[in-house]
Amino acid sequence: MNDYSGAYVLFAIIVSISCASGAVIIAEKKGYKGAALAGWCFVGLFFNLLGIIIVLIIPTKAEGYVLQGKMKVCPFCKEAVQVDAILCKHCGSKLEAAETK
Ligand SMILES: [Zn+2]
Repeated sequence: MNDYSGAYVLFAIIVSISCASGAVIIAEKKGYKGAALAGWCFVGLFFNLLGIIIVLIIPTKAEGYVLQGKMKVCPFCKEAVQVDAILCKHCGSKLEAAETK
């Protein structure tokens, strides 16, 4: 005689799965991939909305910015710098001005 708890469990599972996929999508946009994404999937699965909030406040990985075209990789030290930078802030090397499209 307990249909109600069954529905609650189903609802909790659906919320967990949506939060897990949401966390993965956000983490992916922030430049995380592979094992890191699987980790964020678990964070969303176990912490639900809290997991999403954690993913939202984690810093975007430099590669994420590179993918979005906001950053480029310094050819000397391989660190990400602003796409229109003319001097690398990490190693001080002179950089080519951003390629004009
Ligand atoms: Zn550099």
